[in-house]
Amino acid sequence: MAANEPGQPAVNPIDTSAFTHNHPAPARALAVGAHPDDIEFGCGATLAKWAAAGCVVHYAVLTDGSKGTWDVNADTSQLVAARQSEQREAARRIGATGSVTFLGAVDGELENTHALRDQLSRLIRIVQPDVVLGHDPWKRYRLHPDHRAAGFLLTDSIVAARDPHFFRQHFNLTDLQTGQPLTHHRPSALFLWEADAPNHVEDATAMIDTKLHALEAHASQFESTMKATDESALDAFRQRLRARAATLGSPHGYGAAEVFHLMRDL
Ligand SMILES: [Zn+2]
Repeated sequence: MAANEPGQPAVNPIDTSAFTHNHPAPARALAVGAHPDDIEFGCGATLAKWAAAGCVVHYAVLTDGSKGTWDVNADTSQLVAARQSEQREAARRIGATGSVTFLGAVDGELENTHALRDQLSRLIRIVQPDVVLGHDPWKRYRLHPDHRAAGFLLTDSIVAARDPHFFRQHFNLTDLQTGQPLTHHRPSALFLWEADAPNHVEDATAMIDTKLHALEAHASQFESTMKATDESALDAFRQRLRARAATLGSPHGYGAAEVFHLMRDL
């Protein structure tokens, strides 16, 4: 192998033997994103695959998405409403048949607070997901504060949902479907996207078109996030996303992939 150019960092090849592949579709999954569109970027193809296999997919979006525009004169209450309906449509395109919950924290100001842990752990106890998916809070060199806060909010809320002495007031609530009181709940796996240390790969080849179709439901984000101000720029976005998925899949023999840090034994 040729030496690296001076000043170029060494490129470590991926140790593909350290990865697990293609988790069986769970009965129930809950994806938790900081903003409308984060869930589709992070795990859209995986959710679509599981939904097609019969998994009930639930969404939770932590912030209102009110900073998602470069228009200084934008009416942000209209933007919040538009982003909620875009998120519902994106979930529909993924094939999600569960709930879509908006926790309504102010975009850009998300914090891992007691009040939000109360809400999110209650949602976990209501939905009783087998698998939870969210932002990796341990991702290095991450700038966006909401993504970091969303990660820790989720990991802390899993502990609170799991342990019976956290938020005991939840047990006074009744599950609307079963009529039984809520109980504590331990998911069996946590998938972290944007993973600092990926150790799990999902073959996304059959679902990359569905992922793109769902992302394109977020029309208010074409300018700021997708850099897609016209049809040719939108096409370039599609190509970038396909290329990224192909790069992630190629070491594992897949045409397209999503990778995660998978935690079990929660
Ligand atoms: Zn985001």
